[in-house]
Amino acid sequence: MIKEIELNVLPEQLVNEDILKRTIAKKTGITLDYVLSVELKRKSIDARKQPVSYRIKVELNIKTKDNQNLEPIKELSSERRYKDVSKAKKVIVIGAGPAGLFASLKLIEKGLKPIILERGKPVSQRKKDTAQIIKSKEIIPESNWCFGEGGAGTFSDGKLYTRSNKRGDINEVLDIFIEHGADKDIKTEAHAHIGTDRLSPIIKNIRKTIEQFGGEYHFDTKVVDFIVKDNKIKGVITQNDEKIESDYVVLATGHSARDIYYLFNRKNWLLEAKPFAMGVRIEHPQELINQIQYHSHNYSKLLPPATYSLAYNYKGRGVFSFCMCPGGMIVPSATNPDELVVNGMSNTLRNSPFANSGMIVSINKEDVKDYSEYGELALLKFQEALEHKMFKAAQNSIAAPSQRLTDFLKNKPSSALSPNSYLCGTIPTDLNKILPKFMTETLKEGFKNFERKMKGFICQEANLIGLESRSSSPIRIPRDKDTLEHIQIAGLYPCGEGSGYAGGITSSAMDGINVAQKISQTL
Ligand SMILES: Cc1cc2nc3c(=O)[nH]c(=O)nc-3n(C[C@H](O)[C@H](O)[C@H](O)COP(=O)(O)OP(=O)(O)OC[C@H]3O[C@@H](n4cnc5c(N)ncnc54)[C@H](O)[C@@H]3O)c2cc1C
Repeated sequence: MIKEIELNVLPEQLVNEDILKRTIAKKTGITLDYVLSVELKRKSIDARKQPVSYRIKVELNIKTKDNQNLEPIKELSSERRYKDVSKAKKVIVIGAGPAGLFASLKLIEKGLKPIILERGKPVSQRKKDTAQIIKSKEIIPESNWCFGEGGAGTFSDGKLYTRSNKRGDINEVLDIFIEHGADKDIKTEAHAHIGTDRLSPIIKNIRKTIEQFGGEYHFDTKVVDFIVKDNKIKGVITQNDEKIESDYVVLATGHSARDIYYLFNRKNWLLEAKPFAMGVRIEHPQELINQIQYHSHNYSKLLPPATYSLAYNYKGRGVFSFCMCPGGMIVPSATNPDELVVNGMSNTLRNSPFANSGMIVSINKEDVKDYSEYGELALLKFQEALEHKMFKAAQNSIAAPSQRLTDFLKNKPSSALSPNSYLCGTIPTDLNKILPKFMTETLKEGFKNFERKMKGFICQEANLIGLESRSSSPIRIPRDKDTLEHIQIAGLYPCGEGSGYAGGITSSAMDGINVAQKISQTL
């Protein structure tokens, strides 16, 4: 008999199946010998009280008294049936980020041939380029933390959760990651992550699948224009003036491809300003966050580095933590040499001594009246201007303007900063003088509230590092809600984070799947 139960167990009761079986038998009163096997279905940390435990959901295979009715534990069925599409109808996919790659895999499943056009480089070369950025402290415009194979997701924390399950089946995305090398645990962890060291080989394996079944990759290939006839897409033009034709184009260029937004604007194609959020990245020692979240100096060392998720509403404006990376590091993630943008990433083991997170403030069009002349591009222009301002404040470099949290709250420049993980160096700066008042005021109220929720959050060791500006897209490319095509151009499918309809790895991947499915239905 199969039985599903939920219960709390201590970290040490989860180290192997034998101990787990004993614990479950004891807690449920089922005779140990009758518990044939235990399959972990879900796992999350329950840090509400001491001792900190795991809340788990398990599927038990229990022997019935007469030894009848035994059901095997269901095997993870993740085999996808891809077809040889080498001679099939072509669909252009612009961008090899999560949206473009998952759209391509779905197109292959549906018997269509994806032609992936990617402005950046394959992941191995991209790795070298990011190392070069750290060394030279200069952004390489077409190969960086946002552009290149795997998109912005490749060198990330690889957090795989989404707030929106209505977009599609998250399990399909997780299964594909597992098929290509991710750990099976990502299906049981409530807050699964892959880690940047594991993501690179996974992205390469996805390329192997796509190419093996007849899909094509074209790196160093930037789309600079579209071919359109009678409001129908007919193909694209690349930076080398090459014309590639197809009646179906998936536009999965991410939120950092501003040139695409400007191109739409020049063509008078519809775009909409979309409220988004910007702020700073905060970093604490990981040990301090562990002690706060696990309520003790003597927390179990079997627990993973602690995370947090914080939000507050001040006078109708949201301020919240974003993309929290326990045991991670802060990286430069601008796409142009004169911008300063930071973000966070981590390796699978999350074993750096730092805990960083975006601390961002929601921003809408009414906040940026000075930019109203730019119409629907107002928020984008504001984001761009603030990134330039940060770069200038860092003496025209990508060393990041930074301030101790305690000094920021007192409007006082820091004479020295606490140790931090930012890879390109930090410059003590009064962030109050760079960020607009509505942002600093909201951030300050947010920090005070977060201190009430996590005692010790405001401390000497915490640094603020600017600028966290690419949390989501400040633009939406409007699409038809039924066909998912751009509302003016038939056959053009805005997709993923850059379309403004998704945000994060999983939701962008799910959006890619949905778009590919729509295309196959049309055909
Ligand atoms: C450092 C960092 C850490 C992150 N951590 C996480 C995390 O832990 N979890 C999470 O869910 N999200 C995270 N994110 C965000 C996540 O990576 C994105 O939400 C996601 O990658 C969006 O997917 P996408 O495919 O829509 O766009 P992108 O990943 O941005 O991919 C777009 C691709 O299109 C290409 N492109 C752009 N313009 C053109 C053009 N004109 N022609 C050809 N190609 C073009 C780009 O080079 C890029 O490869 C992180 C982002 C960064 C930068």
